[in-house]
Amino acid sequence: MDHDVIVVGGGLAGLSAALELSKRGVSFLLVESREELGGLTAVYRMGGYAIERYYHHVFKGDETFFSVIDELGIRDMLAWRKSSVGHYSGGKIHRLDTPWDILRFPDLSLKEKFLLAKVVRAAGRAGDPRALDNVRAEDWIVEHCGTGVYEGFFKPLLSGKFGEALSDISAAWFVARIQLRSNRSIKGEMLCYMDGSFSQLIDALEERVSRAGTVVKGRAVERIIAGASGVSGVVAGGELINCRRVISTVSNRSLKPLIVFPGEYQSKLDSIRLQATICMLVGVEQRATDCYWTNLNAPHLPFRLMLEHTNFYASPQYDCKLIYLCTYVQDTSDPFWHKTDEEIAGLFIAGLEEIAGRKMNVKWWKIARTDESGPIYSLGYYDRIPDVRSPYPGLYVTGIEFSYPERSIDMSLRMGRDIASACMGRDIASACMEDMGSDR
Ligand SMILES: Cc1cc2nc3c(=O)[nH]c(=O)nc-3n(C[C@H](O)[C@H](O)[C@H](O)COP(=O)(O)OP(=O)(O)OC[C@H]3O[C@@H](n4cnc5c(N)ncnc54)[C@H](O)[C@@H]3O)c2cc1C
Repeated sequence: MDHDVIVVGGGLAGLSAALELSKRGVSFLLVESREELGGLTAVYRMGGYAIERYYHHVFKGDETFFSVIDELGIRDMLAWRKSSVGHYSGGKIHRLDTPWDILRFPDLSLKEKFLLAKVVRAAGRAGDPRALDNVRAEDWIVEHCGTGVYEGFFKPLLSGKFGEALSDISAAWFVARIQLRSNRSIKGEMLCYMDGSFSQLIDALEERVSRAGTVVKGRAVERIIAGASGVSGVVAGGELINCRRVISTVSNRSLKPLIVFPGEYQSKLDSIRLQATICMLVGVEQRATDCYWTNLNAPHLPFRLMLEHTNFYASPQYDCKLIYLCTYVQDTSDPFWHKTDEEIAGLFIAGLEEIAGRKMNVKWWKIARTDESGPIYSLGYYDRIPDVRSPYPGLYVTGIEFSYPERSIDMSLRMGRDIASACMGRDIASACMEDMGSDR
């Protein structure tokens, strides 16, 4: 046997699974198709600094993230910063950091602001969001704050994220999202970044897991050889590699060419739709706004979200101000998805200049796209997540579809840890039995 376990995918879930395996003394091989680890948290290397292709920060309550940070001994790299939130509507940015900002917010009446606070409180007290999996987010919000606040405040934000899929989005996602954000003080919200970017986490994970197992980059797994009698190996780069167990952390779309499951297992995976994202990072000479995170209620603009990274975290290494402009696409048949990078850059920069109210001196831009940006959390999502134990003994499956009720760094680290535990917990006993059997 070449390896006890092969981990497919070197994003955070794969690296976290490998970390857990390394603690258990299991021999493993992690295979990542790209030349670098990190998946959706991968960075651009800009010479003097690294910066994520897609905007990233973590929240106070992201417990698995902080425990992995401690395990790796890199807590001194955490950078806590106060977030600043804006809401762009009617050609202006309105700050929404504190209760006083909300009181000044012109788009809602005083009564509506009270109802807005009520819906946030109700979400905080809702308990386990999964209980709301079959309730439409729209219905839940309207029930708690009425149509005025929903139409005037939440709907533009939610349709920016989910487009025409909005009417099908479950309240579980909405409530979980608010619960995640409710850990804030009256002065605003503290968010966490890392000095040197989240590539510090990826590098530390790589360094740690490479001590215990093997990490191969730039080689895709092309097939997983498994069936009702178990797993015998994978084919990667045309080579057969034997193993006893496989942990897949890639999306269903990436897994399907490698193996297809029988019956309900595959149909559950297939029933989960993923969103696509186009995210432009622009280097500019001057800041555009005072905010880190700006939600847009401006359907005429080509992007839905603007994150002025350098208003949140400014490294002395940066040679300019860094701004993310991001849009979500529900279906890759959308003509917008097929625009060239140059076309998108032209539209996005014009939108940025509208928000800034002046011409921006753009030094460079880069566009990242993924059609596996995150799940569309539609009604009944939870019941459609299959068991991590696939129908093929020894083959364990997780991936972005399993991130519920929200996808995040924290969630992927947890998924990786849990799937490695599930894999070893169940199978290590039977593997030992098999070994003992073969000795006799
Ligand atoms: C725009 C955007 C913004 C985000 N912002 C935040 C944020 O602010 N905070 C936060 O916590 N989270 C954020 N996230 C979410 C976070 O980045 C993801 O949830 C997390 O990185 C997913 O990790 P993963 O390992 O589960 O999946 P992935 O990162 O997708 O990793 C899967 C890996 O598998 C590899 N792979 C695929 N096929 C194969 C194959 N055949 N063989 C070998 N390897 C293969 C891929 O190359 C990839 O590296 C954001 C995501 C996006 C898209």
